[in-house]
Amino acid sequence: MNDTTKVDTHLEKFSELSLSKELISNLESLKYHSMTQVQAESLPHILQGKDVIAQAKTGSGKTAAFGLPALSKIDTNIRKPQLMVLAPTRELAMQVAEAIESFGKNMKGLRVATLYGGQSYGPQFQQLERGAQVVVGTPGRLMDHLRRKSLKLNDLKVCVLDEADEMLNMGFLEDITWTLDHVPDTTQMCLFS
Ligand code: ADP
Ligand code: MG
Repeated sequence: MNDTTKVDTHLEKFSELSLSKELISNLESLKYHSMTQVQAESLPHILQGKDVIAQAKTGSGKTAAFGLPALSKIDTNIRKPQLMVLAPTRELAMQVAEAIESFGKNMKGLRVATLYGGQSYGPQFQQLERGAQVVVGTPGRLMDHLRRKSLKLNDLKVCVLDEADEMLNMGFLEDITWTLDHVPDTTQMCLFS
């Protein structure tokens, strides 16, 4: 999103959004009171089910911009991936996974799987078998799990490309294209950079 775009002041407060109760109550403890610009401009649209492309600088709060509305759509009783986030590096994948876990702290039964290269498959298979509703990973490893059928995307509600420009710069286009071919047509798509 463009930094010069005027923010609708009606949308500045998280509490005015139809986020789930568990999320709203937790935002207080995270000290998230009002939305950042990229959140005000993208979060309500994602919550409404729209596909979104957003661009904002580092530190502007993009993780919550997609993480909060996506978590709001997750049914923790369904123990299958409902949100998948693609990130360019292991470090970024771990950061996003950690942030999502902190947002969803009050969501009973929420499990987040972090899938990246350079780690053995065993622990990652376990995270998936235990019924992770959120999967965060690097493109190559996500692709490997899809090939091995340890990752299934039939119930995926939201798919996010985080740091999309960086993933393309790193030569992940083919892996991402292949992975997106396995995402159901009904899945909501979000692209952040
Ligand atoms: P980006 O992905 O845009 O670089 P992050 O999602 O990593 O940014 O967020 C940067 C920091 O800002 C994090 O520490 C996050 O907890 C904090 N943050 C995000 N949104 C808010 C908010 N609405 N209020 C207060 N802090 C926020
Ligand atoms: Mg980020």
